[in-house]
Amino acid sequence: MSANKQLLVLPGDGIGPEVMHEVWRVIDWMERRRGVRFEISDDLVGGAAIDARGTPISPETVEKAKSVDAVLFGSVGGPKWDKLGFDMRPEIAILTLRRELGLFANLRPAVVFDPLVEASTLKAEVIRGLDLMIVRESTGGIYFGEPRGIETLANGKQRAINTEVYTTDEIERVARVAFDLARKRQRRVCSVEKANVMETGLLWRQVVTALHQREFADVELTHMYADNCAMQLVRNPRQFDVIVTTNLFGDLLSDLASMLTGSLGMLPSATIGGLDGSGRRHALYEPIHGSAPDIAGKGIANPLAQILSFAMLLRYSFAMDDEARLIENACTTVLASGLRTADIMAKHCAKVSTQVMGEAVVRELDKLGA
Ligand code: NAD
Repeated sequence: MSANKQLLVLPGDGIGPEVMHEVWRVIDWMERRRGVRFEISDDLVGGAAIDARGTPISPETVEKAKSVDAVLFGSVGGPKWDKLGFDMRPEIAILTLRRELGLFANLRPAVVFDPLVEASTLKAEVIRGLDLMIVRESTGGIYFGEPRGIETLANGKQRAINTEVYTTDEIERVARVAFDLARKRQRRVCSVEKANVMETGLLWRQVVTALHQREFADVELTHMYADNCAMQLVRNPRQFDVIVTTNLFGDLLSDLASMLTGSLGMLPSATIGGLDGSGRRHALYEPIHGSAPDIAGKGIANPLAQILSFAMLLRYSFAMDDEARLIENACTTVLASGLRTADIMAKHCAKVSTQVMGEAVVRELDKLGA
């Protein structure tokens, strides 16, 4: 592996390039003030790549993504490309990257920043201090299982089929990610399925339990049915540290958990894969929000989810925990000082632009990292 940290930056469409611009300030700060050396290339994806090259992601971009330590992704899509066929949609860029890089574990933190505790629809006393991580299996399960399709029956009516499939290896590798993560947090994993009504749930529970006994006895493991987990997330979300679950349940539960925090513009995510031949673990980091065409070009998007995605990248791809925490603390301090982009605006706060928010984070980094 090169001594430098190799990154591929893919800003995408809509607000993607606007919020990514603020990450460049943070990268610049890391290089100037912490002596970190990044080797960075950037490229077009999504609608921008369709316009320039006639494809949402070129094979060269995919090859570049495979050759770097980590990919920082913005967001893709917008009304301009909505009418294109499924194979030409901007979203194909992200699906292609997940497939080609073998990114099987999606990490979605749900963290409530204290200054934003009132932004949630839940009571402050329920969500204050919330810090949970959902690990969702993201390349298997019912979204990919065969057989699938819609068929016409003899009586002229139709029947639609999707199949939930999981192998031991698929379950074990995502569970290992969750246990490893828990070791760096509060050492608690809750494994979520529906073993009461699904065979895949039964196997999931057996494999997670066996792995736990074999390799992770120092981590507390509990099991929960997915429907109960949905209730518990709303009733008492702070009972969880790390949740590991299937693709389908993770899709639903991670969206539910993100909304506990009340702010789409604040939420980062990571998708990680296995080790390749050279010992490198592929990983892609992106905010959970989309390209927000309704506010693109206005300079009012919240850049914090993109900046926090970069913090996740430092933590999980380069084990730079101190630097990641520094960025997270800088974001909290900026919010505590009363600066807000329009999406998280509150009473007695000052509404600022994307750029001013980015600059404020760097000013806080200057103070905290001094
Ligand atoms: P969205 O997340 O783009 O926007 C939803 C709402 O949240 C909008 O009102 C938007 O203005 C607001 N919002 C989102 N991010 C914000 C930010 N950082 N700051 C302030 N406000 C923010 O979801 P959508 O409207 O359903 O989708 C828009 C486009 O994005 C579609 O083409 C969709 O396919 C695409 N999309 C892409 C990704 C991705 O690239 N991974 C993810 C989701 C949606």
